[in-house]
Amino acid sequence: ENDLAQPRRVLLKLSGEAFGNGKVGVDTATIRRIAGEIVPAVEQGVQVAIVTGGGNFFRGAELQEAGIDRSRGDYMGMLGTVMNCLALQDFLEQAGQATRVQTAITMGQVAEPYIPLKAIRHLEKGRVVIFGAGAGMPYFSTDTVSIQRSLEIHCDEVLMGKNGVDGVYTADPRKDPSAQRFETLSYKRALIDNLAVMDASAMAMARDNNQTIRVFGLEGEGNVTRALMGDSIGTLVSN
Ligand code: UDP
Repeated sequence: ENDLAQPRRVLLKLSGEAFGNGKVGVDTATIRRIAGEIVPAVEQGVQVAIVTGGGNFFRGAELQEAGIDRSRGDYMGMLGTVMNCLALQDFLEQAGQATRVQTAITMGQVAEPYIPLKAIRHLEKGRVVIFGAGAGMPYFSTDTVSIQRSLEIHCDEVLMGKNGVDGVYTADPRKDPSAQRFETLSYKRALIDNLAVMDASAMAMARDNNQTIRVFGLEGEGNVTRALMGDSIGTLVSN
């Protein structure tokens, strides 16, 4: 009944680019910094779930171009996201933060299976839950999974952490100096203008289910904490 009594619950999407800092493999300094910025928000009572991307290892579509069967390449991509989960888990645990990894492809030695009600319980106990292996299905993206997980475990907001850009712009700010950042943006406009928020299927799912997304830059000092706490940084995308 009392909304104020409900703790804030968010879904943070960290792309493979964030984990690799633009390179193949994991950039441990970057992951350590991001982990260090997650902890203060959890200490303030924010419930944090995370979906990891995997583009720093493999993308099925790219492997397909190199001659690998698309679905098999997609599974390779999904396995890459799990390595990112484990790296982030380690730095969070080192910072004293309790964590659980849940994967959409079962691998009992390294992670729990994805069990939504259990994930919610972990969040209520102050544990950070990290979701790996995407949806467990080829032809999906971790962007789409971010929206799906957020809806299923009832998050208030999806926070899309970006590398190299701090929100959604009217044009690519790296190419067009007159590009302007949106403070707020509708899904309709984002889809029509083909703006770089997330892939189109993810955005359609967010629009159809009224899921609010904040796109923000991962790089500014303290930005991750700010986004988790609910500061109005970056661009808010909603209906
Ligand atoms: N992937 C998949 N199904 C999923 C999630 C991911 O097949 O549900 C595969 C797909 O090949 C994708 C790769 O895993 O390219 C890495 O995920 P994504 O590209 O979403 O990562 P990001 O772009 O965020 O680094």
